[in-house]
Amino acid sequence: MTDLLVQGGAVVTASGSTRADILVRDGTIDRVEKDLAGLVVGGSVQVVDATGLLVLPGAVDVHTHTRVATDAEPDRFFQDSVAAAFGGTTTFLAFNNPGTGSSPAAERSLLAGLREWRAATERDSAIDYAVSLAISGRMEDPVGELPAMVDAGVSTAKAFMVFDFRLDDRRLFDAMRTLGARGGMLQVHCEDPVLIDTAVADALARGDTAPQFHAATRSTEAEAVATHRVMAFARAADVPVHVVHLSSAGALGHVREAKARGVRAHAETCPHYLALSDARYASIDIDSVAECVISPPLRPVSDQEALWSGLADGSLDLVATDHVPDRIAVEKADARRGVPFDKISNGAPGIETLLSIAYSEGVARGRLTIERLVDLLATTPARLFGLTRKGAIEPGRDADLVLFDPAARRTLRASDLHHTSDYTPYEGFELTGAVRSVFVRGRPVIRDGAFVGQRGNGQFVGRTTAG
Ligand SMILES: [Zn+2]
Repeated sequence: MTDLLVQGGAVVTASGSTRADILVRDGTIDRVEKDLAGLVVGGSVQVVDATGLLVLPGAVDVHTHTRVATDAEPDRFFQDSVAAAFGGTTTFLAFNNPGTGSSPAAERSLLAGLREWRAATERDSAIDYAVSLAISGRMEDPVGELPAMVDAGVSTAKAFMVFDFRLDDRRLFDAMRTLGARGGMLQVHCEDPVLIDTAVADALARGDTAPQFHAATRSTEAEAVATHRVMAFARAADVPVHVVHLSSAGALGHVREAKARGVRAHAETCPHYLALSDARYASIDIDSVAECVISPPLRPVSDQEALWSGLADGSLDLVATDHVPDRIAVEKADARRGVPFDKISNGAPGIETLLSIAYSEGVARGRLTIERLVDLLATTPARLFGLTRKGAIEPGRDADLVLFDPAARRTLRASDLHHTSDYTPYEGFELTGAVRSVFVRGRPVIRDGAFVGQRGNGQFVGRTTAG
């Protein structure tokens, strides 16, 4: 059954742009050709005029820390999925790391965590979604559970080299090998715990407890040395690996070098490292600093420039948000109360602003082509994370489409956003371009800037491969 015809837009893929119509049958892209209007028979077909608009594959955000619903806050997962749709994202990957709503049982077993997360998110999302499990150092046998995890449709997992739930190097290496052997891929948060824990202890001993010392104690060297170690592990194991939220030039250099040596190394960066700098930590407003307490922290402008170069030359593979729906009035309020920086919640919201920041700062400023942006936000993340029906506008893929007006201008305000945070680190940014309509498997979720989707229409996407 034909259900949708998108007419006359500029259809963008990673390899080129062309004016074309898109015919959708049963939620799947059937044809992408010039002038398909003649194929539409019958009155039930939805015809959408995309003249003057870009038609992009929906963004695939592979790094979010969305919160699952709780009795006290039953709408957080759903509402962030709606926010993602408003921003032009049609599929997101969530982590179930401690703090996202997982129970103590989930922190002891990957499979228990998966069952719990699936139950908590069932029929709760407005867009398609998947999960990547966090491997906690507190788990009894996380490596032993990895093959069963892949069999259950989860082909990636994330390990942290820092924080109290970190994985030691021995188990990190074993997890990487085991996942790789099953066709999956380990994601790694690369920061060196010795350098960071020492710097934190020294700062606290000096009485430097304010939020800006969070950044001062997480050096680019700590990120670089950890990234270097992970590259060496992946080379020795001969498996793919994915570096999450890469933030600095030194770490990027290690990824670039590893790729040149044939390591199947992949790396992402995030909009905040591209659009914001460590100048934010010089603010005298404590809330404003707490807003940007994230790990790794924001870096100097020189690192920002290195990341843009990495996106353009392929050293960086994708952009994802690291969305954490923390609120200044709730999770971040500890900063105002004088709680030391090492106890303040880490993270910043971003699920709704991925495409708008990347387009405005990247394409509109001439740093990236629109085709490269589509590759970074949709095609490559879908490919690397085993989302085989996502990420491109071509026959056989899911009709996950974004109609984007490149001529629009607006000022970004938290009050206009729909996410479950109460701020955006990009407050006041002047944006070029705006999402007009969004379709997930051919069904409208956003139409002319309004939510028209349904809770539960988003499907869990099982994945059997990655890397
Ligand atoms: Zn993260």
